[in-house]
Amino acid sequence: VEKSLINVDGAARALRKFAEERDWEQFHSPKNLVMALCGEVGELTEIFQWMTEADSRSAASAPKTAGAVRDEIADVALYLIRLADVLEIDLNAAVAAKLAANAAKYPVEASRGVSTKYDQLPKS
Ligand SMILES: [Mg+2]
Repeated sequence: VEKSLINVDGAARALRKFAEERDWEQFHSPKNLVMALCGEVGELTEIFQWMTEADSRSAASAPKTAGAVRDEIADVALYLIRLADVLEIDLNAAVAAKLAANAAKYPVEASRGVSTKYDQLPKS
């Protein structure tokens, strides 16, 4: 597995600077950041709720929703990156480790084309 699947270091640095310039570190407790992250996930969810499956697949290109989808996905990413930074979690390493763990839990032969949870998959 690649060591750095997503490059978050630049974003983490920019967010640190953004908070420092505004003296907002005092508000950026893990608790507050998790709550803000959930709020942004809620805003993203709101765009998709009541959509048909087909509409949801074109939400990022449909003129009516494209901008909002992009903005809310960015908000989610920014709070997630900030949260990991404040907690001093190496997000690149955490993502790589979790993806490797998921690959072990869901071997291609057992899980291809099925949505069965890992503990229900046939043992190889
Ligand atoms: Mg938002």
